[in-house]
Amino acid sequence: MSGEFDIIAKYFAPLATDEGAFGLTDDAAFIAPFIATKDVLVEGVHFRSNDPLDLVAKKALRVNLSDLAAKGAKPAGYLLGCVWPMGVKEEAIADFARGLGEDQELFRVSLLGGDTTVHGLKGAPLTISVTMFGAPSSGGVTRRNGAQAGDDVYVTGTIGDAGLGLRALTGVIKPAAGAKKLFADRYRLPAPRLAAGGALAGLASSAIDVSDGLLADAAHIAETSGVAIDIAAEKIPISSAARVWLDAQTNRNAAIADLAGMGDDYEILFTAPQSRRRSIEMAGQVTKTPIIRIGTVLRGKGVRLLSENARPIDAPKRGWDHFGR
Ligand code: ADP
Ligand code: MG
Repeated sequence: MSGEFDIIAKYFAPLATDEGAFGLTDDAAFIAPFIATKDVLVEGVHFRSNDPLDLVAKKALRVNLSDLAAKGAKPAGYLLGCVWPMGVKEEAIADFARGLGEDQELFRVSLLGGDTTVHGLKGAPLTISVTMFGAPSSGGVTRRNGAQAGDDVYVTGTIGDAGLGLRALTGVIKPAAGAKKLFADRYRLPAPRLAAGGALAGLASSAIDVSDGLLADAAHIAETSGVAIDIAAEKIPISSAARVWLDAQTNRNAAIADLAGMGDDYEILFTAPQSRRRSIEMAGQVTKTPIIRIGTVLRGKGVRLLSENARPIDAPKRGWDHFGR
């Protein structure tokens, strides 16, 4: 079986004949005047069966909002498809709708339509599909394919908290109560970087939201842009709670590689010419978003994670692939 991205390239990209589909190599499509994106959430894959449904609803909106954020777009509305498990209770649907309502207000989006069905198979998981539309910023659409050799590489926020959250929720790691809550909250409820994404449109040469993992998503930019990317492991921004976990690991480089491969961060990874350093700093200040420079774009291909003495660190699991590659 091929990997997720090979499947997309082989079977679906040939169907994406509109140039605004960008050959299915970007976070969102451009059907002028709209930017459109879809994400599907499946119980047992993207959320756990006992996760509160208002939070699941918010996550379904926010992962899509995050794609729009990376493209610098302003969200407008969404279409919702739900396949509920057999025997679903009305209270569950009410909880789900309450979550949608709260986030609609927060992010100023409206439900536009959709479809509601119930599984015909016993035990089949709740499946949610959101298609979201937004308007491009006046700075234009920040594509994945614009990174140039010599550009800087930046990321917003912190990396690894959500991945540690999933591990804490599944009992793989046992952080202190405070850290566990912080990690779990980041896993359950991403905070899409809409303000920063909008401010970066016209400044960034390329951008992607970090859903698969920092290294995997850097590889998506590198591949689509036809460049190589070097990331300095020690520059990757890590929360103080994640630093406690990191400091307890025996192999520090391997542990950073682990954090950079986890995914679900929903930060924005982007590149920009060195001449824009001051403007990028301003964009971070104006939108109150931490933005850290973590690497460099080079000629060539592939992504390298470099140790403090500039040696490549082996990163066995570089990110998430639904077909397990
Ligand atoms: P993201 O993580 O930004 O949502 P994905 O990694 O899920 O993006 O998908 C990569 C690209 O492939 C995107 O352009 C997406 O629109 C496209 N894609 C994925 N699955 C399908 C599909 N079944 N049909 C059409 N396009 C798809
Ligand atoms: Mg994306």
